[in-house]
Amino acid sequence: MDINLAHFNTDIGRQKPENIIHSSAACPFCATDELTNIIATDGDIILLKNKYNVIEEADQFVLIEGRDCDADIPSYTSDHMHRLIAFGMEHWAQMRASGKYDTVLFFKNYGPYSGGTIRHPHMQLVGFPTFRQELAFHRAEFEGLTVDERDGVVLNLSTQPRVGFWELNIVPADAGATETIADYIQISVDFFMNAFRRPLTSYNIFFYNEGTDIFIKIMPRFATSPVFIGYNIRLLPSNLAEMRDRMRAKYFESKRCTE
Ligand SMILES: [Zn+2]
Repeated sequence: MDINLAHFNTDIGRQKPENIIHSSAACPFCATDELTNIIATDGDIILLKNKYNVIEEADQFVLIEGRDCDADIPSYTSDHMHRLIAFGMEHWAQMRASGKYDTVLFFKNYGPYSGGTIRHPHMQLVGFPTFRQELAFHRAEFEGLTVDERDGVVLNLSTQPRVGFWELNIVPADAGATETIADYIQISVDFFMNAFRRPLTSYNIFFYNEGTDIFIKIMPRFATSPVFIGYNIRLLPSNLAEMRDRMRAKYFESKRCTE
């Protein structure tokens, strides 16, 4: 079968807390004293086993991004952002090198359309002992119109999106350039959440690897196009170059002029 099929345990899924829609529900990630199975910490950044391992084939982990329940990537200090991405990518690399998994997913859900259930900013690592990585993505999905390039890291807007519309890609020549990667992730999320005429509520960040090559995709989320869901048609927006110019003007060109 040419798909990766995983089994979702609905008994565990039912027990999972949800506080994006039900915003008055208590936040389990604020109660740091009650967290169990902690693997590593860096200040208030915490990696732990996911209490609700809903995917039966996989080992699931949660990376709590900090103590502030209402914060998110656009408001982080650049020091916190750098530490978060260095910590996350380091543990992602360690899990990939552990020999336990064919593939380790590393991603973030934010907002009601992202598929997330807890508001408190966090990322997830999911290790699959058996997985056909060639079915997960194509390298062409990370080609695009270059927005900026620094330290061998390219930030671009997808010309062959995975799903459709505006997808930002970060393609580092060297996975060690974590500060530039972190800066580009922060800019990408800020752009999606704050620079659109109609503000977006939701996004995903997906990390991919093919051997030691790393690819990152930041995807705005809204109700997904029916022609994609039904027929796999990916929609390329006609204003892609305009979006690239807007991003350059907002984050890169004015900065260069004042330097
Ligand atoms: Zn919280």
